[in-house]
Amino acid sequence: MTDTIVIAELSKGKINATTNELVTAAGMLGSNCTLVVPCTESSVANDAGSITGITKVIAAKSSVFETYDAAAWAEALDSASPSGIVITSASAQSKDLAARLAARRSVSVIQDVTGIQNGTLSTPIYSGKAIQNVSLNGDAVVTIRANIFRPAENSGNCDVQVLDTTGNLATALQEMVQRASERLDVSEANIIVSGGRGMGTPANFSHLEEIADKLGAAVGASRAAVDTWEEIPHSMQVGQTGKTVNPNLYIAVGISGAIQHLAGMRSSKYIVAINKDAEAPIFQHADYGIVASWEDALPVLSNSLASLLG
Ligand SMILES: Cc1cc2nc3c(=O)[nH]c(=O)nc-3n(C[C@H](O)[C@H](O)[C@H](O)COP(=O)(O)OP(=O)(O)OC[C@H]3O[C@@H](n4cnc5c(N)ncnc54)[C@H](O)[C@@H]3O)c2cc1C
Repeated sequence: MTDTIVIAELSKGKINATTNELVTAAGMLGSNCTLVVPCTESSVANDAGSITGITKVIAAKSSVFETYDAAAWAEALDSASPSGIVITSASAQSKDLAARLAARRSVSVIQDVTGIQNGTLSTPIYSGKAIQNVSLNGDAVVTIRANIFRPAENSGNCDVQVLDTTGNLATALQEMVQRASERLDVSEANIIVSGGRGMGTPANFSHLEEIADKLGAAVGASRAAVDTWEEIPHSMQVGQTGKTVNPNLYIAVGISGAIQHLAGMRSSKYIVAINKDAEAPIFQHADYGIVASWEDALPVLSNSLASLLG
């Protein structure tokens, strides 16, 4: 079945009940429902994991969500959302956003759905004088009319991932450390800081080593780094043809997140990714993703961790 992505509906800075209705509709259209929460503060998404039927919550944290701008919102949500059937409410703003998202993804948009049966969507046309039935064949963006579908209950429990594109690194890294601390004892965690080809030169691994020294962590590498630079030994390689690691905290820097790399580190308890490309696949697996260059992020990370560890 196709994966589904629900864009949370917010009012007054909170996720509103319409979102639960969207999750019900998502369950009728596909599986693996990811809830994407557009926000300027990721705490807005803290309770979203309780909505029954969701498998993942992504708090898409960006300053563009301060005020509505269709193009900017569509761009930010497109990069934060995995592929699949995207579902939004049929409010005026969300219908506008849905059309933009569909255009960006080159998929169909089906507006104002009032019924779903066996994968067929019903939408009123000609001011409600007729009903159009649409069968989906692949990914699409679908808007759902409010107060039609039974709201999903709130008895679930899934983790919230944060994808932070604000560029406010001090705040982002402090939040990352705090969230990691809630899940594990960071001061006693076994930690791996890994670098990829995005580090640019092998000499730049010294920045990772500096952080690792402070944390008592090990330094790892992607295969691209090992293959490109003879200074980075194969013993550091994490992945399918390298080591399988299972630390409490895995910090991936300048690593794209290829499937073979994920094979070696995916079971880490808390994954942090720093990458300048918001669409890097590693962000789909990170508990906390920071969209930034390592040149900007590592000095701030070093300070945040130093203050945490005293
Ligand atoms: C059979 C097989 C086995 C393999 N085994 C492994 C394995 O064990 N381990 C492994 O890792 N790979 C393995 N690979 C290779 C894997 O497919 C990828 O090619 C590799 O993981 C990519 O490494 P990378 O992410 O470092 O490089 P890239 O894919 O080149 O990604 C570099 C990333 O750095 C980011 N970046 C660039 N500049 C900056 C900056 N200044 N700041 C922040 N980010 C920046 C870019 O946006 C990009 O996402 C294997 C492949 C095959 C076919």
